[in-house]
Amino acid sequence: MSEHVTEMTAHRVNYVCDSCGEGFMRPTNAVLMSDPPQYPHRCSSCDTPKTFRVLYPRIEYRPAKCEATNDQASSQEAKPYPPR
Ligand SMILES: [Zn+2]
Repeated sequence: MSEHVTEMTAHRVNYVCDSCGEGFMRPTNAVLMSDPPQYPHRCSSCDTPKTFRVLYPRIEYRPAKCEATNDQASSQEAKPYPPR
């Protein structure tokens, strides 16, 4: 086996407040030990609480080659992981 290197770009995913539409939801550093665990957040602008199953902001990695450089790239664009 040999190493296979794929360039990925990092995307920060924020959750915009449902109440004011201006602030971002930020974790309160508390965890609800439910199954699955949940994470209370508060709006950075209006302080509205909301609980998620994920933490925001979070980082998602996506393949760096978003634009089709050859005709095979466009057909693989929708799949986040290679089929192997
Ligand atoms: Zn808000």
